[in-house]
Amino acid sequence: MSDCVFCGIASHEIPATVVYEDDLVIAFKDLEPEAPVHVLVIPKEHYGSIIDDVPDDVLVAMRHAVVYVAHETGIDETGFRVITNTGDDAGQTVHHFHMHVLGGRDLGAGLLPE
Ligand code: AMP
Ligand code: ZN
Repeated sequence: MSDCVFCGIASHEIPATVVYEDDLVIAFKDLEPEAPVHVLVIPKEHYGSIIDDVPDDVLVAMRHAVVYVAHETGIDETGFRVITNTGDDAGQTVHHFHMHVLGGRDLGAGLLPE
């Protein structure tokens, strides 16, 4: 997907603050962080969202990256949230599957914004 910004980050053509990378996934800081820790975990291959046929090994690698980020930033101790916006009602703006990893402050008890 030549016009996909996250494909550009995955191929290092678009700069990002990368915090984790392996053969299948890359994790980088969100450009507009909503918490002290706000990292995006993406597959290097393009999938539009979690609804697409994402292979099991990619999903396992994404979970591994989430846990790595949580350990490295200390939010495994304090708590964190993983969000995967999917489609219009969820406000998905980048149509390349990604997981937001958010933590480092009290995120509130509710799942949804007030
Ligand atoms: P979503 O609304 O779930 O599709 O989230 C897309 C996220 O990607 C937003 O939080 C944006 O701030 C973030 N984002 C968009 N472009 C970039 C970029 N070039 N580098 C880092 N984060 C980005
Ligand atoms: Zn893409």
